[in-house]
Amino acid sequence: MLSKITSCSVLGIDGCLIQVEVDVTNGLPMFSTVGLPDSTVRESKDRVKAAIKNCGYQFPVRKITVNLAPADIRKEGAGFDLPIAIGILEATEILVQRRAGCYCLVGELSLDGGVHKVNGLLPMILAARTHGLQGIIIPKENSDEAGIVPEGIDIIPVSTLQQAVEFLAGMDVAVPLGSTTLQEMNSRPPDDIDFSDIKGQQHVKRALEIAASGGHNILLTGPPGSGKTMLARRFSTILPEMTYNEILETTKIYSVAGKTSGKNLLLTTRPFRAPHHTISDAGLIGGGSVPQPGEVSLAHNGVLFLDELPEFKKHVLEVLRQPIEDGEVTIARANMTLTFPARFMLITAMNPCPCGFLGDGRNRCNCSETDIKRYTGKISGPLLDRIDLHLEVAALNYQEMSNKAHGESSKIIKARVDRARAIQEKRFTDDPGIYCNSRMGSKLVEKYCLLDQKSSELLEKSVRRLGLSARAYHRILKMARTIADMADTGQIQQAHVAEAVQFCRISHHF
Ligand SMILES: [Zn+2]
Repeated sequence: MLSKITSCSVLGIDGCLIQVEVDVTNGLPMFSTVGLPDSTVRESKDRVKAAIKNCGYQFPVRKITVNLAPADIRKEGAGFDLPIAIGILEATEILVQRRAGCYCLVGELSLDGGVHKVNGLLPMILAARTHGLQGIIIPKENSDEAGIVPEGIDIIPVSTLQQAVEFLAGMDVAVPLGSTTLQEMNSRPPDDIDFSDIKGQQHVKRALEIAASGGHNILLTGPPGSGKTMLARRFSTILPEMTYNEILETTKIYSVAGKTSGKNLLLTTRPFRAPHHTISDAGLIGGGSVPQPGEVSLAHNGVLFLDELPEFKKHVLEVLRQPIEDGEVTIARANMTLTFPARFMLITAMNPCPCGFLGDGRNRCNCSETDIKRYTGKISGPLLDRIDLHLEVAALNYQEMSNKAHGESSKIIKARVDRARAIQEKRFTDDPGIYCNSRMGSKLVEKYCLLDQKSSELLEKSVRRLGLSARAYHRILKMARTIADMADTGQIQQAHVAEAVQFCRISHHF
């Protein structure tokens, strides 16, 4: 007899439904799976057999064929154990389904019949809901992750094969999960870092506020101990709240990467990722034989911080260009192409010179001009061109360090950032894909960054004096637009241009 069970797999960060067909016929006892299963799926035979037996059901001594369809989709992971076992029990009429409606099943089985956690559950639930299924039977271990899907689908957590069988047979053994509302999710206390922790550094804080307001990428240059990392870590606390869709999208990525445990369960605060400079390009961009999201995707909707920028391998930095431009990464494999979202704000940091003390004032720099050139030259020009805001962070002097007064809190700064973002949201309503000033292409810059006579003269003079490129010219205009938005003025003024010019290119070594 043939039985058909619905299950789900993940492609990139999206779930796709898989039909698990199980055929049990008379013949020599054998158990084969077809439909491009990877090695984990093949190994599932042993687990399924043991689980069925150990739950006290009879395992058929007949010819079993399992087909996973559609055949052209790659299937990975152990999540098909549960649907295959249920299919076998149904094909041998041990299980007669009495539930109305169609249920999707996912779960890995242990030999004793326990149902265990799978990665990527959240996208699977969303896919099952999109396809109008009645419900989804999931491992109980995943139930926290399932809790953020709003109504529209029944979520049935089970911890054993037996519970799944009994539920499908019509018994009320498992309690469907309720859904969590957005408000409940946001009630999580924020991480205990705040801008008020930072002493002095007024102009740096102002620059970070500009960056947050307009979505501009940042390069921080400063000696060791000047607090570059501390500043970067606090940056996400002044970014706007995540929207429900952003939360769902980012959590999907963590779900696929198997990182939704404990504290990272629901990504309601913007992620902050700070990979070490020894990272490989696969680690940064994503990859592996079963493609996994990389750091750029784990930073999606949040902040990617690259400290010691010149220490990163050049080709690793070069792969950053696609996500910075497109907000996503494409990973090509022999039989498929996957896309992971990767829209992040980039903060980079470096020392001003190899020893770190150039321009420090307290310590002497021993680097030669050539050393410095070689050091800064490691950063590729195209990457620098995509960083709007270049900023020098000085070491704090004694007076600043001993100052006990707290600075402005993240909350106050964030409220201003929110206002500036609201202006941009309105501006770009008719420009799909653009949500902040930094994303403007040259056409939009021409449209929205008009200068009056005086500002225009100032900019021209600066460009000539500093020898700036056309790209730098556009970056200044975009930043000036942001600064004007922060002042809530439609017309960009001379002072806005003057401030933007400061952040354009701080080091003459680039
Ligand atoms: Zn030096």
